[in-house]
Amino acid sequence: MCASQGLAGMEQLVGIPGVVGGALHGNAGSHVADIGQWTVGATVMTRTGEIVVRDSADLHFSHRDSSLNELVILEAELEFEQDDPHALTQKMQQNWIVAKAKQPIIGQYAGCIFKDPGGVSASSLIEDAGLKGERIGEVAICERNANFMVAEPGAQCDDLLSLIDLVRSRVSEQLGVDLEPQIEIW
Ligand SMILES: Cc1cc2nc3c(=O)[nH]c(=O)nc-3n(C[C@H](O)[C@H](O)[C@H](O)COP(=O)(O)OP(=O)(O)OC[C@H]3O[C@@H](n4cnc5c(N)ncnc54)[C@H](O)[C@@H]3O)c2cc1C
Repeated sequence: MCASQGLAGMEQLVGIPGVVGGALHGNAGSHVADIGQWTVGATVMTRTGEIVVRDSADLHFSHRDSSLNELVILEAELEFEQDDPHALTQKMQQNWIVAKAKQPIIGQYAGCIFKDPGGVSASSLIEDAGLKGERIGEVAICERNANFMVAEPGAQCDDLLSLIDLVRSRVSEQLGVDLEPQIEIW
């Protein structure tokens, strides 16, 4: 919708599934942009039921994290630059192709498992630790992008959690980096 109306920015996030509330809570983004950079305000409901408007001075966004952690994000205001709708649509299509080329072709997966720790991609660290293709049960580390874990038929939640533990300990032992999960585990 943004691209067709000539509003530039969001075309860089094409291919990231989810709703606006989820994207703002975790500051969803690509390697070059994230939703927080265009967000200038949000209306939230607190845990006591109070409706509060938070302006840009109140909002803080960092890598896959934001200060928007209230009970419900009700509304958000985003500010974009104007650009040519045709050019934006083309950029969006290119970004879509690039994004899809880095994702698993088959199987179930939940996006990237780990945050990129300061300037290095988690996927390259997992690869450097020799973990590409590693599997536990029916959950495997993706060959295309080592930060994806693909659940094959019959996969158990415990397989995924064990694989996450294995990756964290191996990357820490071999490369001295503590990977922090990007997904929420509860
Ligand atoms: C194939 C694939 C590719 C992906 N690629 C990327 C990527 O490139 N970059 C990236 O950042 N992420 C990526 N993800 C992860 C995911 O799509 C994003 O994190 C997305 O923003 C999550 O949105 P959601 O609506 O699914 O949120 P959910 O996972 O449903 O929720 C995330 C959190 O936000 C909270 N939340 C949701 N809505 C609200 C609301 N209205 N008010 C308050 N809290 C709320 C939830 O309680 C939860 O804590 C990918 C996932 C998949 C499956």
